[in-house]
Amino acid sequence: MKYYSLNKKAPKTTFEDAVVRGLAPDKGLYFPEYITPLPYSFFDSIENKSNSEIAFEAIKQFVGDEIPENDLRTIVKDTLSFDFPVVELDFKISSLELFHGPTMAFKDVGARFMARCLEYFNKNNSRKVTVLVATSGDTGGAVANGFLGVKGVDVVILYPSGKVSAIQEKQLTTLGQNITALEVDGVFDDCQDMVKQAFVDEELTSKMQLTSANSINIARWLPQLFYFLFSYKQLKSKYENIVFSVPSGNFGNICAGMVAQKLGLPIKHFIASNNSNCVVTNYLETKSYQPKASVQTISNAMDVGNPSNFIRIKELYNSDFNELKENLSSYSFSDDETRKALLEIHKTYNYIADPHGAVGYLGAKKYLQNNPGDHVVFLETAHPTKFLDVVEDVINIRVELPEQIKAVIDKEKVSIPISSYSELKTYLLNKN
Ligand SMILES: *Cc1c(COP(=O)(O)O)cnc(C)c1O
Repeated sequence: MKYYSLNKKAPKTTFEDAVVRGLAPDKGLYFPEYITPLPYSFFDSIENKSNSEIAFEAIKQFVGDEIPENDLRTIVKDTLSFDFPVVELDFKISSLELFHGPTMAFKDVGARFMARCLEYFNKNNSRKVTVLVATSGDTGGAVANGFLGVKGVDVVILYPSGKVSAIQEKQLTTLGQNITALEVDGVFDDCQDMVKQAFVDEELTSKMQLTSANSINIARWLPQLFYFLFSYKQLKSKYENIVFSVPSGNFGNICAGMVAQKLGLPIKHFIASNNSNCVVTNYLETKSYQPKASVQTISNAMDVGNPSNFIRIKELYNSDFNELKENLSSYSFSDDETRKALLEIHKTYNYIADPHGAVGYLGAKKYLQNNPGDHVVFLETAHPTKFLDVVEDVINIRVELPEQIKAVIDKEKVSIPISSYSELKTYLLNKN
């Protein structure tokens, strides 16, 4: 399989090269040259297959022959060593729980898959790759955990000092080994700007192979299509018209769902559920795409003002606005509405959602008003305890900490404080 850059000014390249680079030399996002539908029999008998068989069949064409089948099977199996349960709240709404991985964020799957691919590609050479990532919270922990101990890969995480939750900070500062946390005196945008500057700094990139581990990287983005297959497997015997409501920030997750649909998965419709960062909601209303500075909300993993994967969605629909609008609805909700939803979900279904899942729930409810016969699955993208202060404050009960969280809470934080790009650069040039 070859990948091309969506800026169309860089040569096509291999899966390996696209994963190692992250971004194409022309700064475009990589996109697969073909998406070939899976045979009807795959979906017809999906309930008889294990999750790792399903995932292997689905991802195989995107890797091509660059990783031998047996190795790819192992990578997929190791990546998916936990459950993806669909919890039916009633006959109209289900929650797809994507938080059963080691850091309790849905980003675990993409991070683990990407780490194992890089490990495979590094097996026979002495090349070192440095994964540089800025985080507002969840990405850092998932990437740190996914890449821990992976040969030939160093991970450097930049996070804004005092602006991630206590649990999130522990998840990215306590692992050691090949993981380093840089604690930035600033906000998330400062971290992101420093990372961007590093990628275009030729003095740095001539001396080291830097790559990204956010959803611009195809190995982090594509495995997210598994979630939609796993839900279908669980729901196909019960519901005919399955719709997904995806709490969206950079739109990587929902775009992967659309790839699953191109593979032939019978999904009726997608809902992009947004907080007040509503560029896409506005786009579908006005046909005009207007990126904005992000605003802070209680569903902060979705505080994105210019979703990086939206260009991939456009590519999937050949920039045909009407075709996209047929398949995608988007709604946006305030923090007040999100808080009310958390309460409603708890009261009505005795279920505890996190603020991101609650935004997905609101999108599902809104869609169902006009489409009462459909079944909407909202993606529960993080465990409620990762947003403990909001959830406990709104629902007014104490939420029990899961084992994964208990395991890090008492560990000692180790971080290196930095406050400027030049300090980042000095660190990178001297790290070894
Ligand atoms: C990253 C994240 C999202 C947004 O996912 P995108 O792929 O960026 O749209 C939603 N919820 C949580 C908890 C996240 O960590």
